[in-house]
Amino acid sequence: MKRIPIIVATRNSHKAQEIAAILPEEYEVHTLAEYPDAPDVEETGHTFAANARLKAEGVSAALHGLVLADDSGLCVDTLNGAPGVLSARYAGEHGKDADNNAKLLRELSVLRGWAPFPARFVCALSLAENGREIAHFHGTVEGRITLHPRGLQGFGYDPLFVPRGYTCTMAELPADAKNAISHRGNALRLFAEWIHCRSSRFGECSD
Ligand code: IMP
Repeated sequence: MKRIPIIVATRNSHKAQEIAAILPEEYEVHTLAEYPDAPDVEETGHTFAANARLKAEGVSAALHGLVLADDSGLCVDTLNGAPGVLSARYAGEHGKDADNNAKLLRELSVLRGWAPFPARFVCALSLAENGREIAHFHGTVEGRITLHPRGLQGFGYDPLFVPRGYTCTMAELPADAKNAISHRGNALRLFAEWIHCRSSRFGECSD
């Protein structure tokens, strides 16, 4: 089987692991861990889609091949969509999951009368080549925030997020169960379907 090489524009090992596990075997997943000189693209956009595009285009201008970028985060209705695009740096420094979770719990604790706190994880994917976006995809998963963090799986806000229809948190689900319902899984399945149709020599995909 000829595998399709994809460079995933992330230095977040959790995201990279999930993406590699969700994509079918026909993809050969590379990450920025293999490209230490790849640019660090600043996320100056106001939407997940804008930031995913900035990352995909910025990295693909420097590296040869198809580049896929994921910009994702948590949006809580009671907080008017926060942390949103600031999810990774909600408490200040980029990527401090424990601090971000503590801040979210503080903010919601004073609003406990408004519980349950409806929320969703959002994932924007941008696919780029030679510095230009060629396609984008979007995935979400609905749920609510619990003030009682539970679970050790996953990363980020997973211990605080209870997916709709579940009583456990995302961090209590095994990886394959999370990937089957997650924002990232939903966006990646659209991506895989699109690229499969695009590369199909027999035109069996009608749209
Ligand atoms: P990004 O690297 O700018 O896209 O920021 C992603 C941030 O959103 C992460 O640092 C997490 O805080 C949060 N996030 C994204 N996806 C997930 C997930 O699947 N579970 C938990 N938190 C997530």
